[in-house]
This record gives sequence, C-alpha cells and structure tokens, in this order.
Amino acid sequence: MASSKIPLLVERFDFIKLIQNVQENFDVFLPYQTEYDGKDNLSYKKYSGDNDFVLNKYRTIDPLKTLFYLTSESVLPPSAESRKRIVLGVKNCDLLALRIYDKALLEDNFVEPNYKIWRENTYIISSDCDDALQSCHCNLMEYTPYPQKDDGLFDLNLSQIDDKYIVTLGSKKGEKLLDLLYEHCNVKDAPEDILEKLTVQRDKVNKKLSEINKDFSAKRDYSKISKNQDVKVWSELSKECVECGGCTNICPSCYCIIVNDESVGADFKRIRTWDSCQLTGYAEVAGGGSPRERVWERFRNRYQCKFDFMKKNFSQYGCTGCGRCIAVCPAEIDQREVIKKLQEV
Ligand code: SF4
Ligand code: SF4
Ligand code: SF4
Repeated sequence: MASSKIPLLVERFDFIKLIQNVQENFDVFLPYQTEYDGKDNLSYKKYSGDNDFVLNKYRTIDPLKTLFYLTSESVLPPSAESRKRIVLGVKNCDLLALRIYDKALLEDNFVEPNYKIWRENTYIISSDCDDALQSCHCNLMEYTPYPQKDDGLFDLNLSQIDDKYIVTLGSKKGEKLLDLLYEHCNVKDAPEDILEKLTVQRDKVNKKLSEINKDFSAKRDYSKISKNQDVKVWSELSKECVECGGCTNICPSCYCIIVNDESVGADFKRIRTWDSCQLTGYAEVAGGGSPRERVWERFRNRYQCKFDFMKKNFSQYGCTGCGRCIAVCPAEIDQREVIKKLQEV
C-alpha cells in the first residue's frame, strides 16, 4: 500500500514512465492537441507512444461520456470491455457531469450494464485547468476549474506546474495508482514553494474565468425557466435553432437514448444509441403524436431539464458550465445569454 502522504511531486518526464510501463495491463487515454474550427483544441486519444499529451489547459472537445457511454452500444448482450483503463486529464466540469451519470445509470432500480462495466474498470486521473476557453463558465455554476477533493470524483489529480505534476489522492481506488506511481517514478513530497505557485496559478485561472464571463452573473434565478411559459419569449429565444441536436450530443451530462433491436442471423442484439430531445422525432409515439411538437417547446425542455428536472432528481444542476453547447451551436446560441434574457423578462 502506497503512503498517503500527499500532495506529492513528480517530474513530467518521470510520469511518462508510469504510462509506458502500465501498457500491458491498462488502456490509457489522454488529451492531445488537435485543430477544430481553425483553433487549437484538445481531444482524447488512446496512448500509443506519443508523449505530447496535454494535461493542463482546459477541457477536450469531446465530453468524457464518449469513453463511458458510447454513441451506440449493444446493451443486450453488453458490449463494454472489462480491460482496465486509465483516463487522464479529466477536467472538473466533466467530473461533475459524471456524478450525474452515476446517479442516473447506476443507482435505484435501473443499472445501465455497459456504463457499469466501463466505470468499474476505469481509473480517473483528473487535472487542473490552467487556462480557459471563451465558452467556459464553470464559475457561473459556482464550480472551480480544478476538482475538489471532498467531491470524491477523481482517483488522482495532477496540477501541472512548469514541467512537474503535484499529485493529490482523491479516492480509495486512487491508492492503486499511487502504488504504480511509487513503483515507476521518483516521487517526493511537494515542497512549499511549488504549492504556493499552485495557489497563484489557480487564482489566475479564476480571474480569467471572471473576465470571460464578466457580462453574466452567477446569481441567477433558475426557477424562471420552468415558470416562464410565454410562447413569444421561447419562440424568440429559439428562433435561430436549426434542431441539429449538437448541444445535447456534446453535453457531458445528457444521457437520453433510443433503443432498437437488430437481428444478427437467427439471434438479435439490443442496441442503445444517443438520442436528442432537440430533434423532431424525439419521444414520438405510434400514430405520430409528440409531447413537444414545436421547436420552442423542445428548446425550452432542454433548459428545464438542465436547471429544474435534474436539480430535483440528482440534487445538482444538469449544467457544469463546460461551454461545449455554446461552442458547438451552428446558430451561435449562447446558453449564458439565454439564461440572462430569462432573468430580464
Ligand atoms: S469550464 Fe471550467 S473546469 Fe471546464 S474546462 Fe473550462 S475552466 Fe476548466
Ligand atoms: S448544458 Fe452546455 S455548458 Fe452546461 S454542461 Fe451541458 S454542454 Fe456544458
Ligand atoms: S446546437 Fe444550437 S441549433 Fe443545434 S439544437 Fe442546440 S440550440 Fe439548436
């Protein structure tokens, strides 16, 4: 059992040895720089010897759910693999969304079989954001751009300072990773001056988030969303929406699905595929009836789901402020603006 004397410090070049040495027993996923929409961005990739991964910066384009709740999977029989995995560079906005997934897909009388398998076999090494994107607004949701140990959502956390990582243990499961760290790397206690640098770095990101979101307030009355049933208001807010479903597909906390049976020879498979409440056919029933026929009704439903229904069901808003729905929207609808406008009507 590794010592739990933390925070610890490890050099980046040394940490790479850990990743290289666990390949036989783990699939390792890391964020890498990629170009998207003409800008530098990050995307998860399975490790194959490329050490140019980026653990600091900000969230990936793809939400963490793409590694735990695949776009399309067989649920009968379950198709998830039980090989152990380590996912690194997970940001706090994705961790908080995973908590919603845990509540929706693992608790009570419904357990999603694939999610359970992926989740149980995956270790999470999160990391601090030392930068923020223009769509980031975790601060408006009163979250921080680094994980909180008390949330118990990460196994280990890495805070990058220059070419070093400050390592923090977040869970019992993380002790296994600490053992591996001690086995493969030169680990020491984090000295005071490095911890002071971390405080400065975290302050800097918090300030950047405040600057990015200076036109918006975290003091928002979300009850105005469900209370507002004015067709004119919602029609105006949704008038540019082209119903592409991008905002829900990219959202780390959306989990709506459609299930189909597919025949495989004399047998069949039950396939679960992502669905979107923003699409016309969503929740349509036999005979063509739909509970939300119009665009504004579907648009409003997303806001109600995030800021009313999920809060009631999971004691947490369905938005963690990752900003992906803002970045992806072809109609340039900014969720922060929508909520701001709803405060004013
Ligand atoms: S929303 Fe916050 S936690 Fe998420 S990437 Fe941006 S700064 Fe980091
Ligand atoms: S609603 Fe938008 S900003 Fe909030 S968690 Fe989902 S994608 Fe991120
Ligand atoms: S991404 Fe934008 S255009 Fe597409 S469904 Fe969502 S709000 Fe509408």
